Amino acid sequence: MSLVVLNNVNLAQYTSWIVGGPAEHFCMPKTEDDLLQALQHANKNQLPITLLGGGSNVLVSDQGIQGLTICLRQFSQISSKIENNKIYIEALSGTAKSELLKIFLKNKLGPALFLAGLPGDIGGGVVMNAGVAEMFTPREFMEFVDEIEVMDFDGNKKTHKKNDLKITYRHTDGWQPGIVTKVKISWPLEIDETILQKVKDANRLRLSKQPLDMPSCGSVFKNPEGFKAAQLIDQSGLKGFRIGDAQVSLKHANFIVNLDQAKASDIWSVIQHVQKTVLEKHNIQLKTEVIRLGKW
Ligand SMILES: Cc1cc2nc3c(=O)[nH]c(=O)nc-3n(C[C@H](O)[C@H](O)[C@H](O)COP(=O)(O)OP(=O)(O)OC[C@H]3O[C@@H](n4cnc5c(N)ncnc54)[C@H](O)[C@@H]3O)c2cc1C
Repeated sequence: MSLVVLNNVNLAQYTSWIVGGPAEHFCMPKTEDDLLQALQHANKNQLPITLLGGGSNVLVSDQGIQGLTICLRQFSQISSKIENNKIYIEALSGTAKSELLKIFLKNKLGPALFLAGLPGDIGGGVVMNAGVAEMFTPREFMEFVDEIEVMDFDGNKKTHKKNDLKITYRHTDGWQPGIVTKVKISWPLEIDETILQKVKDANRLRLSKQPLDMPSCGSVFKNPEGFKAAQLIDQSGLKGFRIGDAQVSLKHANFIVNLDQAKASDIWSVIQHVQKTVLEKHNIQLKTEVIRLGKW
């Protein structure tokens, strides 16, 4: 087997919160063949599989993750072509969203504005149906996706057209179980000469509103129907609430930042305290957007 599988790998370095314990077994496939080898290894040794994209929306347990963690960030390749007044883009799922942004920006197309400041991989964007609050077009990831390719845990591939998927707020269903391997995207060639300036302005605005200089996972909670989670948290007096080195950001109440040495358990305790307080004060149950991985 040419794929390298490592043991006891610190996962904090692969998450944007910089927290979490070790992966019992860990690999970073670069190609589809590597991915097949990873699956065979897991099946042969009866290891449960956990997937990690850019690690920008996960909370990994301090106890780490049992079994095989497959980190997809090197499973990366992207190409584009223009045909019939449309751009067509094909990417492996571990390709960073910033690579997609570059293609849209180079072609002066609207999705560049949506992607500005969205971390993580293209696969993570599909799974989470990443989106923004602003009324951009598009404002959700799945708006420009035509189809995805998924490999099940036995290595069989299947294509899912967008219409076969169940796409909801911050979630895409109907493809599981498996690994999103390839994503096909298209967008009309409606050129916007001012797009670069718009992207710069959007980045400046994000920087002014969000604690981007500190480790976080972006917004921790989903916005409940008709409400903004950040507002509810702020109105509950929770800005600055802290357990260990995990703190509700003073800049944006829906962010929990790692001040330095936060543990995943500190972050989880802050999450639970925020949920309990908002429920008491507003009678609204906040649901997490962030996904917990490993043993809790
Ligand atoms: C500073 C900051 C700002 C952010 N702003 C936004 C924002 O504006 N809007 C927004 O929606 N999100 C935002 N996020 C959250 C996050 O960036 C997005 O949800 C992103 O799309 C997650 O992608 P990822 O590759 O990091 O996924 P990960 O965090 O690695 O994974 C997320 C989930 O998807 C699964 N997964 C990942 N890749 C695959 C795959 N190929 N196949 C199957 N399962 C897979 C993982 O197992 C996990 O359950 C922000 C995060 C940060 C740190």
